[in-house]
Amino acid sequence: MRILLVEDNSRLRAIISQAFTGNGFAVDTAECAADAEAAIQAIPYLAVILDLGLPDRDGMTVLSFIRGKDLTVPVLVLTSRDGKEAVIDGLNRGADDYLAKPFDMDELIARTRVLLRRPGRALSGTLSEQNVEFDTVERRVRINGTEILFSRRELTALEQFMRRGNRLIAKAEMEESLYAFGDEVESNAVEVLIHRLRRKLSTAQASLEIHNVRGVGYILARKA
Ligand code: CA
Repeated sequence: MRILLVEDNSRLRAIISQAFTGNGFAVDTAECAADAEAAIQAIPYLAVILDLGLPDRDGMTVLSFIRGKDLTVPVLVLTSRDGKEAVIDGLNRGADDYLAKPFDMDELIARTRVLLRRPGRALSGTLSEQNVEFDTVERRVRINGTEILFSRRELTALEQFMRRGNRLIAKAEMEESLYAFGDEVESNAVEVLIHRLRRKLSTAQASLEIHNVRGVGYILARKA
């Protein structure tokens, strides 16, 4: 289980590296974007853990480099930026997950394991879960083999859900991604969007449904 850790802070690099090694991973490290890209081209890593604040370039350029080369390696982004923009930008550019610093080491390891368990999810840009298939390149969704039309906003939300697996998306985070469209966002915009998504999923007999975790956010889960 060979992974690449891209982190310029030497202390953090050592701590993370040690924790993964102790959990049965082989860890290569890179301190800057240039080294990371060289390593990624040379070695078929099972996952990349990517810090965004790197000395030579923004870590996001490494992510663009990976996806630009059509590499399917899952990428978990570490961000110390508090704005949600970095997170949404990261997810849009093909990050599979993210974690904000400071984070819990056990959580980082657990989330990395989740990424390894889903080797097919980034392949050819198609996210697949139960009977729902999301082609992230063509922006098309098939449910039960039938193409279902979704609005741009609905597609963005559904993609967020599918990339997140069965983990929660905070309501504030969904709101942020609506703002990314540059439109006015009404106070109940997220509720309206979730309502429409739910109805479309249900009408198309998707085996997935959106659960509301009151006051916290939403989770896409297998239909009971
Ligand atoms: Ca850094």
